[in-house]
Amino acid sequence: MADINPRSSECQAYRLAIRDLCSRFDSAYWQQVEEHSSYPEAFVKALTEAGWLAALIPEQYGGGGLSVTEASVILEEINRSGANSGACHAQMYIMGALLRHGSEEQKERYLPGIASGALRLQSFAVTEPTTGTDTTRTRTVATRAGDRYIVNGQKVWISRIQHSDLMLLLARTTPLAEIKKKTEGLSIFLVDLRDAERQGMTVRPIKNMVNHETNEVFFDNFEVPAANLIGEEGKGFRYILDGMNAERILIAAECIGDGYWFIDKARHYANERIVFDRPIGKNQGVQFPIARAYANLRAADLMRYEAARLFDTGQPAGAEANLAKLLAADASWEAGNVCLQTFGGFGFAVEYDVERKFRETRLYQVAPISTNLILSFIGEHVLGMPRSF
Ligand SMILES: Cc1cc2nc3c(=O)[nH]c(=O)nc-3n(C[C@H](O)[C@H](O)[C@H](O)COP(=O)(O)OP(=O)(O)OC[C@H]3O[C@@H](n4cnc5c(N)ncnc54)[C@H](O)[C@@H]3O)c2cc1C
Repeated sequence: MADINPRSSECQAYRLAIRDLCSRFDSAYWQQVEEHSSYPEAFVKALTEAGWLAALIPEQYGGGGLSVTEASVILEEINRSGANSGACHAQMYIMGALLRHGSEEQKERYLPGIASGALRLQSFAVTEPTTGTDTTRTRTVATRAGDRYIVNGQKVWISRIQHSDLMLLLARTTPLAEIKKKTEGLSIFLVDLRDAERQGMTVRPIKNMVNHETNEVFFDNFEVPAANLIGEEGKGFRYILDGMNAERILIAAECIGDGYWFIDKARHYANERIVFDRPIGKNQGVQFPIARAYANLRAADLMRYEAARLFDTGQPAGAEANLAKLLAADASWEAGNVCLQTFGGFGFAVEYDVERKFRETRLYQVAPISTNLILSFIGEHVLGMPRSF
């Protein structure tokens, strides 16, 4: 476990390399992807080929063997360039469950392919339409039948299925009535998606506010080999929780990247746009909200680095990871709102990208975890107040 300095020359080199790669995918590229509601395949391919999405996979399996601090710098820079990590971030962190809890055989079988990009593991099926955030009530069931599990149930908002070879699936393997703690009896499986739609899995895309490929999924007697169970049966919920801190930190970094993008856009426009014979940024009514949003963003950025430092040095990071996600999502949303306001009517014009990024950054208040759930973690687990649900 190492204490990585985010201002080291290595981190700086990563920033420059990502900036260089992202500069090939400019505003026109993202506008075209958005206009056709398509997947930014060329962009994801370029990131994969350069090895950035394999940052967290250990070198022995062909990955970069980087820390969460360094991985967070990668995702921050992607969003800071005007791109959207949502298309590809899952390839970076979903494999964490396999890495931490998979058997050596599973790791050797899958991780090298995930590292090279030959296998895309960027779909993670947790959310369900009836139970929502109450994950322990998961209704999708996986019943053991010899050397297979038979899966029945429904998931919703499952992203990037059409652009994944593998999916991590959370399902209940012991009925709620037969367990002592509601967090028990859930298991995670690696599902091969390549032939899944012919074997009992149905996928229905959900049109949504951002250009984010996401779906409803139905399992009807869908078979998963027992060999694809990750770790021990019944411990899946804990395995998922184990990956949450890293995910929170990485998502916080994406928000930070968005925030800096908004601030840069806003200050340039405030300097250039002349109204009443003066740059609009000369008016403190325009300047101060940008300055305040910048201050909040810098503060959130510090919490993200502190969370990443604790995580990378093997110390408890739950409080800081959640605080970082909360503060960063709020800071990027504030920066987005201020940027839109600074642009006036032009903020609504597609050609400036502000409205797209505004929609994209709003999502972080809800997914992958909603703000209220983070507040409830802080209230209960950090501040010791009564449990609410
Ligand atoms: C574009 C997009 C992509 C997504 N991708 C994925 C994916 O790949 N995989 C996946 O598994 N999920 C995915 N999700 C789902 C996402 O994680 C959930 O939408 C999110 O966790 C909130 O759950 P919910 O929508 O069921 O809200 P609900 O649980 O129905 O909650 C609705 C609102 O009520 C609040 N609320 C609920 N209970 C409480 C309480 N006790 N106290 C206070 N507030 C409460 C919530 O915070 C939320 O704001 C995605 C969602 C979107 C929109």
